[in-house]
Amino acid sequence: MDQNRAIRETFLPYGRQWIDQEDIDAVVNVLKGDFLTTGPYVTKFEQELADFVGAKYAVTFSNGTAALHGACYAAGIGAGDEVITSPLTFAASANCILYQGGKPIFADIDEQTYNINPKEIEQKITDKTKAIIPVHFTGQPSALDEIHDLAKKHQLIIIEDAAHALGAEYKRRKIGSISDMTMFSFHPVKHITAGEGGVITTNNKVYYEKLIQFRSHGITRDPNMMKENHGPWYYEMLFLGYNYRLTDIQAALGSSQLKKADKFLALRMNYASMYNEAFKNTSGITIPFQQTNCQSSWHLYVLRLERDKLTGNRKEILQALINKNIGVNVHYIPVYLLPYYQELGYKQGLCPQAEKLYEQVITLPLFPAMTENDVSDVIEAVKEVINTYSN
Ligand SMILES: *Cc1c(COP(=O)(O)O)cnc(C)c1O
Repeated sequence: MDQNRAIRETFLPYGRQWIDQEDIDAVVNVLKGDFLTTGPYVTKFEQELADFVGAKYAVTFSNGTAALHGACYAAGIGAGDEVITSPLTFAASANCILYQGGKPIFADIDEQTYNINPKEIEQKITDKTKAIIPVHFTGQPSALDEIHDLAKKHQLIIIEDAAHALGAEYKRRKIGSISDMTMFSFHPVKHITAGEGGVITTNNKVYYEKLIQFRSHGITRDPNMMKENHGPWYYEMLFLGYNYRLTDIQAALGSSQLKKADKFLALRMNYASMYNEAFKNTSGITIPFQQTNCQSSWHLYVLRLERDKLTGNRKEILQALINKNIGVNVHYIPVYLLPYYQELGYKQGLCPQAEKLYEQVITLPLFPAMTENDVSDVIEAVKEVINTYSN
């Protein structure tokens, strides 16, 4: 058998959106209406999002990164403040701290869940610590009980980075309803898409009002918040905000997608269990650990390579899968190893578990628009490649 034969004719990406006619009609409908930017569809989408996760408020942003920036502003993070986050995440989870002049502090991950380890968080807390940003890596909820205990003890604000976790549950509670603020992203590879977009959900009215102002120049028209009032045209700028608004075009797409969120999640869970079943006894690879009291939203399916049982390294194995038209990927380069962070002074060796895991992981294709046949192709390709590189 040719070890390099493509398993399939077309390249299967690791993730992509699913847009149907209903989504297209929803967008076209907005284009024919009165509002293009922030209008009634944004308000509607926000209400639906708040209902979906079980939070009081939802404030949308132009993307998830802007939403995290807004959350850091609302949390009062400023120069000299330290914020603890996971190294095993996308750069935005830490960049949002830098935007506010704060200092990202990386606490190492748990070897089993790949999420930030509460014991490591505890060791990094100082009198400058202001907040914790746990990231629900792959959609598997972080140890929120332990993190909330630490936050209570040290009076810290919790901002969940739930970009991977729309629909996930922590001990029967929906992610998005639990902490001070929670961010979701609507980038096309995430659970639902608005093209670009993000949201903060919260139960706190003060945060809610700050977020609304922050995304629109720091401007208010609320008479109760203004120093003067010259007339109906009058507004005041209270602080230096940004233009981070979502458009009605995007919100209409988001609303239409949200209706399908449960279906999308069920498909992700089905494909993940097919992978789990296929790989649980395969020597050389470790399937993702599942917490029994949580429901992962399965944004990513990450296999861990057992280096001592394989002759090839991660790069060779990844390339062999790409040669078979399977779009595998790697999540994530530990944030502080990125050149920008290295120049800020973060040193290699800071979070050994995250660095070790980074060398061993491969993300398999997982998205609702793929088929069971696609999943079977991935399984066949992985088994062939792992077999080739087994010792
Ligand atoms: C996608 C993502 C973000 C940023 O979201 P955008 O909408 O792309 O700005 C932040 N954190 C994590 C973990 C993500 O995966």
